[in-house]
Amino acid sequence: MGDMNQLQALFGGTFDPVHYGHLKPVEALANQIGLSRVIIMPNNVPPHRPQPEATSAQRKKMVELAISDKPLFTLDERELLRDTPSYTAQTLRTWREEQGPTRPLAFIIGQDSLLTFPTWHDYDTILDNSHLIVCRRPGYPLTMQEEAHQQWLEAHLTHNVEELHTRPAGKILLAETPWFNISATLIRERLEKGESCDDMLPAAVLDYIRQQGLYC
Ligand code: ATP
Repeated sequence: MGDMNQLQALFGGTFDPVHYGHLKPVEALANQIGLSRVIIMPNNVPPHRPQPEATSAQRKKMVELAISDKPLFTLDERELLRDTPSYTAQTLRTWREEQGPTRPLAFIIGQDSLLTFPTWHDYDTILDNSHLIVCRRPGYPLTMQEEAHQQWLEAHLTHNVEELHTRPAGKILLAETPWFNISATLIRERLEKGESCDDMLPAAVLDYIRQQGLYC
């Protein structure tokens, strides 16, 4: 076996708000495959796209509250601090430059993001700099809509976790993580209607949402 403690992963998203559908699959993943740390990186949302309801500062604070007792996770605010669009391909290129050519690095996404992945800017360069680890999410297929994209997926797919630790980049793992039927959209809708979300996100995040008067 390679060194099972060296694989680091980046986990990007809007996190409006962060919830257990983000945290729990990734914690399970870390136990299953061995991850030394997971860096949560909230996006800057470019002005021409629908804006998150929470401000960048609020999204950052919610992630901080969610991970304060979870040493697996750290927060990276470099995308949040930017005022230009943040492309994952560029972020991973920069991260690779920082970490050097040989360290294994991974980017974590949910199943829904796998389906849209080929529409991401420079998506085919992402695997040059990192592996891709896909967490399960209820309601989404694990095959790509277009044949060419399915071929791309199969060309990079691995079932051998060790490869993620021994190679620096280039493999895709469809991880067998538990399903959580939670989305930030569902949480925002429930809070707006005054419905309970107690089992969907950490209590400290929920308290902060209430205190800030968010999503109501
Ligand atoms: P929204 O409902 O506002 O679109 P979201 O809940 O999908 O938000 P994002 O911040 O957009 O959350 O997601 C960040 C990443 O987390 C994406 O790769 C997404 O696929 C993944 N993710 C979100 N929720 C889940 C879930 N319940 N299970 C697995 N992956 C998830």
